[in-house]
Amino acid sequence: MRAYNFCAGPAALPTPVLERAQQELTNWHDRGLSIMEMSHRSSDYVAVAQKAEADLRKLLNIPDNYKVLFLQGGASLQFSAIPLNLLGKNTRADYVHTGIWSEKALKEAQRYGDINVIEAGRTVDGKFAIAPQSEWQLSDNAAYLHYVDNETIGGLQFDFIPDSNAPLVADFSSSILSAPLDVSKFGIIYAGAQKNIGPAGLTIVIVRDHLLDQARPDIPSILKYSDQAKNDSMVNTPSTFAWYLSGLVFEWLLEQGGVEAIQQVNLQKAQLLYGYIDQSDFYANPIALQNRSIMNVPFTLKDSNLEKIFLKEAEGAGLLNLAGHRSVGGMRASIYNAVPLQGVQALVAFMQDFAQKHG
Ligand code: PMP
Repeated sequence: MRAYNFCAGPAALPTPVLERAQQELTNWHDRGLSIMEMSHRSSDYVAVAQKAEADLRKLLNIPDNYKVLFLQGGASLQFSAIPLNLLGKNTRADYVHTGIWSEKALKEAQRYGDINVIEAGRTVDGKFAIAPQSEWQLSDNAAYLHYVDNETIGGLQFDFIPDSNAPLVADFSSSILSAPLDVSKFGIIYAGAQKNIGPAGLTIVIVRDHLLDQARPDIPSILKYSDQAKNDSMVNTPSTFAWYLSGLVFEWLLEQGGVEAIQQVNLQKAQLLYGYIDQSDFYANPIALQNRSIMNVPFTLKDSNLEKIFLKEAEGAGLLNLAGHRSVGGMRASIYNAVPLQGVQALVAFMQDFAQKHG
């Protein structure tokens, strides 16, 4: 029996995807070998890679003037790759700071450019929120504006797409494919795979064509988007298994009805969990209503001494990985696409029982 996995990443994968991978594991499509043992240059593998890209394009309605790259190094390597690719001539960039991941991104960028940090986190009535764009001090001449759509640790999500003359560059690691997205508003969208896409080891970068020619001359070829685009993301051996498995996740998502359909389930899950937390005096969530993440739900218990018991009993009930990030403590339920509504229902029922027993 599979437990309900609320891990923030590497996160739950759809069971039918794992079962299909299991079926195909030792003998892919009767070729007598596994996908992991195949050359990435073979026609079989290239077809798998191309199908994954085509399905992702379909899911996100990605316009033709964008390249889709399947890279390695995690979203964290993109924290460096982005300034290296975009700050070739103009070295000024704006970075919106809303939490731990946006801070890591801007710290890397500071190694390469003149970074204008926009402090956009603020507390309103005791709850953390994102300041409206009218309060931001943007540069006149930035090469790009960077922000993190969903702060995975804080559970803080943008409720708007910033309006910017400079190209928008956004980290969607923990929110990509959770809801429809207008890709045409962005210069670059990037995401580590290990939440809503597939296994760790793969990073997706969606980049508009006109941003491909402004890299610093000293950029390593493997990080250079134009080189990767020219080589179909195969400047070197890609993360072939993760790419294949992500393709299976894309097929699964299309079968569910695409991102519009999964968004409805995601909203139901989030409303159920936040709704319960809000009417309880035993649990609390620190985020203002409009900026609550629909993917990562941090919460605290009335008495933090009960946290260890909560986690132990949850595990006993088949509800795994509910501990908050090690930097902030508390609890966090990550309810990505592959966590079914029944998983959140089971979590809420458990939380109710626990509050009754210990409240
Ligand atoms: N950005 C966000 C929003 C994340 O949640 C994470 C990982 N949790 C990262 C970046 C870093 O990703 P990686 O570990 O793939 O480098």
